[in-house]
Amino acid sequence: MPTGSPDSVSYTIGEQTGNRLSLSDSLQYLKGVGPSFAQALAKLGLNSVGDLLRHYPRRWEDRTSFARARDVRPGESVTVCGRVVAVTTKYPKGPRLAITEALLDDHGDAIRLIWFNQPYLEKSLKLLISNGKSIVAYGQVRQSGWSIEIQSPEWEELGQDGDLLSANRIVPIYPATEGVGQARLRRLIDRALRDYSHLLVEALPRNLVESHRLLGAAEAIRGIHFPASQEELEQARRRLIFEEFFMLQLLLALRRRTTKETTSSIRFDFDQARLQSELDRLLPFPLTSAQQRAIREIAKDLESGRTMNRLLQGDVGSGKTVVALAAALIAVANGCQVALMAPTEILAQQHAIVLRRILEPLGLAVELATGSLKVKEKAAVRERLALGQSHIAVGTHALIQEGVDFAKLGLVIIDEQHRFGVLQRQALAKKGTRPHVLVMTATPIPRTLTLTLYGDLDVSILDEMPPGRKPILTHWKKAEKRDQVYSAARRLLAEGRQVYIVCSLIEESEKLQAKNATQMSEHIAADVFPEFRVGLMHGQMRSDEKDAIMARFKAREIDVLVSTTVIEVGIDVPNASVIIIEDADRFGLAQLHQLRGRVGRGEHASFCILMADPKSEEGRARLQVLTETCDGFKVAEEDLRLRGPGDFYGTRQSGLPELAIADILRDINVLIETREAAFALVEQDPLLQRSEHTRLRLVIEQMKSGYELVNVG
Ligand code: ADP
Ligand code: MG
Repeated sequence: MPTGSPDSVSYTIGEQTGNRLSLSDSLQYLKGVGPSFAQALAKLGLNSVGDLLRHYPRRWEDRTSFARARDVRPGESVTVCGRVVAVTTKYPKGPRLAITEALLDDHGDAIRLIWFNQPYLEKSLKLLISNGKSIVAYGQVRQSGWSIEIQSPEWEELGQDGDLLSANRIVPIYPATEGVGQARLRRLIDRALRDYSHLLVEALPRNLVESHRLLGAAEAIRGIHFPASQEELEQARRRLIFEEFFMLQLLLALRRRTTKETTSSIRFDFDQARLQSELDRLLPFPLTSAQQRAIREIAKDLESGRTMNRLLQGDVGSGKTVVALAAALIAVANGCQVALMAPTEILAQQHAIVLRRILEPLGLAVELATGSLKVKEKAAVRERLALGQSHIAVGTHALIQEGVDFAKLGLVIIDEQHRFGVLQRQALAKKGTRPHVLVMTATPIPRTLTLTLYGDLDVSILDEMPPGRKPILTHWKKAEKRDQVYSAARRLLAEGRQVYIVCSLIEESEKLQAKNATQMSEHIAADVFPEFRVGLMHGQMRSDEKDAIMARFKAREIDVLVSTTVIEVGIDVPNASVIIIEDADRFGLAQLHQLRGRVGRGEHASFCILMADPKSEEGRARLQVLTETCDGFKVAEEDLRLRGPGDFYGTRQSGLPELAIADILRDINVLIETREAAFALVEQDPLLQRSEHTRLRLVIEQMKSGYELVNVG
């Protein structure tokens, strides 16, 4: 462990700053930070003093009392303290595996500490023996034969009794990086706190701090690093989590306020009863009550005179298209055009077919704008849209290209929102003058994420499936059961059903993926289902080829469709009742749920077979979730829980600031508390003009610029 000068509690301030300190001062101004240390700190993202003070510990160790070696039990995570009395390194399997073992003596009881493939540790540990120093080690205790041991413990040398930062107190443990030892980092942060903590001004309004019983800003920062007690630590954390969430919610509240305040140039008029009877007439089925509710919510937005910004969430198959259709009818009846953007050509095409079938008899013109249009057609489509001769444009990204103009775009609908970034949503909206925006997603978003990711949108939820849907029975089978799976599929094929087979996900390249799918389909056609018609679809095919295959599958000219994940979203073939997913453990839970939604769309009992041999406990847990529930929201909650918010589908690209200390799952209560507080504050002071909100406004300005940068990148 690198150590700084042990007596460096004194400090000086770099000349450059004079006596005007600032939190943006470079860390090099702190004593003990030379260029190489500064470089190591920069790797942690720490450049300024302010960064350092906001570098929160990963965890804390209560070193006011250590666990005693004699009392620890296998399975416990403990911090022990003692002297190293022996060190050896062994190579039981040759040079590929080094096992370094140290014996820690704690008042006559011993614990073995074991490290793998870190033979260089031996030298520093031996040094500790010769100068009689103690160490602190942290990790999970295991029983090994008669003795107890900790494998791969975190450890550090215990400073002298005089070291007030690393012993005899609750000690912060920071995210580790090479060249930045814990003890040294503590001393540095302590120094920064002494010099700079008076600059940590309170940004939260006083009444909020009081009513929510929060620690002050400077107190909280000191307390998060060097708490005097567990209670102080808890309060410091609460305050910082509150602050982090509050700023985020304030940003969202302001954004929502802005969109709501901007009066749309387009206020739609319509008659609820007439719309209802028109839908009844146009559709072969009655709307579910969830659909009716969503349509009412949308209609209310459209006639409010304010710009709609609404998210429509509904599991696969819940019938979002019809809701979009209703919104489109209102817009068109008010003389406006509608743009509907979908992530793939197949989906765009499918939407166009549905909309044309329903709308063309009403004399409405629906255009399909995709990348594969011929130049001439493209020009014609563009002209009709620009002249306002067409009422509805359905398309892919092609819609947001330059040169696509609308005579009067009044409503923008984005299907499968998670496939598009915020930017694309905005790009399409810019084709009109503040058009209403409806985004639809089949990825059920846990409430926690709706509150953060889509906090600036209103939300409608389709929580009810159209009647008559049979649940999809989901089974997880290991490779050795493959024959059994195929013969079950054969029986259903013989009954006239159709089957999807989804090939393993190969992330390296689409090419490999296509090759793999091709081989698979050849094998299936020749060896597995020779008596049935097998089709193939993958991402390397031209989109007209894909469309042709899809059309044949829909027309039942193909019985078994082997494909990559190109069938993922929105495809609707009610007669397909089996989906077999190869190497299911390679897919995300949300994605598996989406794929599963390809079946169960008709009146037949449907099956989803997950072929997988997951190696990890987590992998098994994930597949288990799918076999247990078909409820997309439950799947999403589990996915979020298992993977953590950072990885959750779509979170990364959302452009929201990363959370430094708050955790949307663990701290959901604080999240809700701050949301209410932030929205109430914006209600009272929409522009943050009151004097007690000046600092808030400054923080938000900074966040905003950061936020927009993220969006553009
Ligand atoms: P998604 O929400 O996944 O986009 P779709 O809009 O594609 O779902 O609808 C799935 C299927 O359910 C379609 O075949 C559609 O015609 C049908 N559907 C939609 N609403 C109803 C309803 N109220 N009653 C019966 N079937 C419906
Ligand atoms: Mg859909």
